[in-house]
Amino acid sequence: MDRDLTTTCGYCGVGCRLEAHASDGKVITIAPALDGPANKGHTCLKGRFAHQFSRHRERLDSPLIRDGDGELRRASWEEAIALIVSELTRIRDADGPDAIAGLASSRATNEDCYVMQRMMRAAIGTHNIDNCSRVCHSPTSWALRKSFGLSGATGSFDDIEAADAAILIGANPTEAHPVAGARIKQATLRGLKLVTIDPRRIELADYGVLHLSPRPGTNAAVMLGLAHVVARDGLVDQPFLAARTEGYDETRALLEDYTPADVQRISGVPAADLQRAAHIYAEAGEASVMWGLGVTEHRYGSEVVRLICNLALMCGKVGRRGSALLPLRGQNNVQGSSDMGALPDTFTGYQSVADESVARRFEERWGVSMKRERGLKIPEMFSAAVAGDLKAMYIFGEDVAQTDPDTTHVIAALESLELLVVQDIFENETTRYADVVLPASSFLEKGGTFTNAERRIQLVAPAIDPPGDARTDFDILTTISAALGHDMGFQTPADAMDEIAALTPDWAGVSHERIGRGGLQWPVAADGTDSPILYEDAFELPGGRALLAALPYKPPGSEVSDAFPVILVTGRRLEHYNAGTMTRRTHNLDLVGSEWLEIHPDDAERLWIEDGSLVSVRSAHGRIELHAHVTARIEPGHVFTAFHFPEVRTNLLIGPSADVNTSCPEYKVVAVDVRPVSEKPRRTPAIAAAG
Ligand code: SF4
Repeated sequence: MDRDLTTTCGYCGVGCRLEAHASDGKVITIAPALDGPANKGHTCLKGRFAHQFSRHRERLDSPLIRDGDGELRRASWEEAIALIVSELTRIRDADGPDAIAGLASSRATNEDCYVMQRMMRAAIGTHNIDNCSRVCHSPTSWALRKSFGLSGATGSFDDIEAADAAILIGANPTEAHPVAGARIKQATLRGLKLVTIDPRRIELADYGVLHLSPRPGTNAAVMLGLAHVVARDGLVDQPFLAARTEGYDETRALLEDYTPADVQRISGVPAADLQRAAHIYAEAGEASVMWGLGVTEHRYGSEVVRLICNLALMCGKVGRRGSALLPLRGQNNVQGSSDMGALPDTFTGYQSVADESVARRFEERWGVSMKRERGLKIPEMFSAAVAGDLKAMYIFGEDVAQTDPDTTHVIAALESLELLVVQDIFENETTRYADVVLPASSFLEKGGTFTNAERRIQLVAPAIDPPGDARTDFDILTTISAALGHDMGFQTPADAMDEIAALTPDWAGVSHERIGRGGLQWPVAADGTDSPILYEDAFELPGGRALLAALPYKPPGSEVSDAFPVILVTGRRLEHYNAGTMTRRTHNLDLVGSEWLEIHPDDAERLWIEDGSLVSVRSAHGRIELHAHVTARIEPGHVFTAFHFPEVRTNLLIGPSADVNTSCPEYKVVAVDVRPVSEKPRRTPAIAAAG
């Protein structure tokens, strides 16, 4: 049987719309939807070609239960659900609901995440629910809410083309958000003045007018320096500041300490380049700022996002077409999983669990009573498990044993649990520790919605059915919730969306029917009017005024020493996605089949490392081995690798240091020691492919 439909890509946060053609239960082709608002007829090699994982022979197609001999064996759904329910009930009765925690999946739909958090809150009775934004853009969310009021991009990808200038900081979109990267590239060819800021000379630096390469961990100094020049050189939009903001006087006083010379000393960015960058941004008619995990995954990542907001406010570049602040979100639905309340402190739409009227509204709808205190964040869950206070976890679509920092601690936590349920599409590093594994569905096998990096809610439709006895996540979660005694009463994801709209003012006008082909950008009024641009007239804070923050530069949590003289920066590669669970099971593996370490030629020569030779990388927390790629794209003193291959275990190197406000791990600055391992150099296919 043939099926043709339009859906939304399940890889990155760009949210490309796709035309899928399936036949006899297999996806045959995927093409870009010509009217996709984010992709405008384009896709990257992940969205278009990396779909073979959906029928890979290793797909989970039956529930698995770990027996007394330690092996996972096939089981029926009835047996698996009965075991989960009896164990969760036993633990809840013995230790209380807060001895249980859940993780929602940012790869899953909004409706999946909604029922997951409702199950944890209403069926189990805990706010111990979180999602992977904790380890990526939680600093962005925190800062945007503090500075402007809402947790989302202020504009759309269309602002890239509408801008005269743009700053791209801590992001490598041509690899991690390829269609957005292509749009930026095209815009530069049409005249966009692009300033790139990154320790690596990313590909887009070749298209920009200026590249700044700060030492890892010094983004705050660079942003303060840019703001200093704007203030010093009379580039401040005084009427905008006076009419629409608060906090400038204190900020202005702080900026005195960040002259270009000071910033050069801290960050290594030449003073002249810093001044030029400030003028390019401030003097442009319209200018946008885009950023990624190179900003957020730091000890003070949330503060740097506030400094980005400061700069935009000082120049009056918010709330207009072409003047946007665009965080480039990683996973396809990491915006949506947080929007849906898969967070320990907020229900849907970032409504606080501590707000009495909000909590009552949810209690009435769900027919339960809930605490007003927040639950545990992901790192707190792992610490509580190691301490023996957390007894059970339900992890849905997250391979925390591979992707989360301080892997040794994460594994100790998983081993400490009395019950670990993992719901996923493949066995992975985390299922090694699971008591029950539930076979779930990929984005090609389910219906619902994703929300992309521009707050755009878009429909997802099933091209094929889940394999074997695998079920949709929505079906699994609502069934288990009902078995726990809390029947949500939803027949379809559209029913769940109707409830989300009823409980969430910013989603009041959202329904599957209204979303249509073009999507809706929240906030969506009850009459269906959506919001491509935020803050045109007022900010979503008391008095409608934005808040500038006087935040000084502070050094990163990890600094070089004699023992660890090199800084490791981690990131992503074009051909793979996150833990590689899906892309490693596609032909993309033929393009890039292993991980490698980028090292500058000067460092390589000093350390007797040849291109292709095996090296060891050691931090205070762990040691890994991988092959080296000598390249001038990385600065001397820094090395770079990704985390797509479990055999490399990059995150063994990452310690517990985290963002001070959100607990987002400091993935981007790790002091390490690099040295050759005696083995003949080889040129791996991966390195050859990478050029
Ligand atoms: Fe999918 Fe992102 Fe590629 Fe678009 S750019 S096709 S959303 S992975």
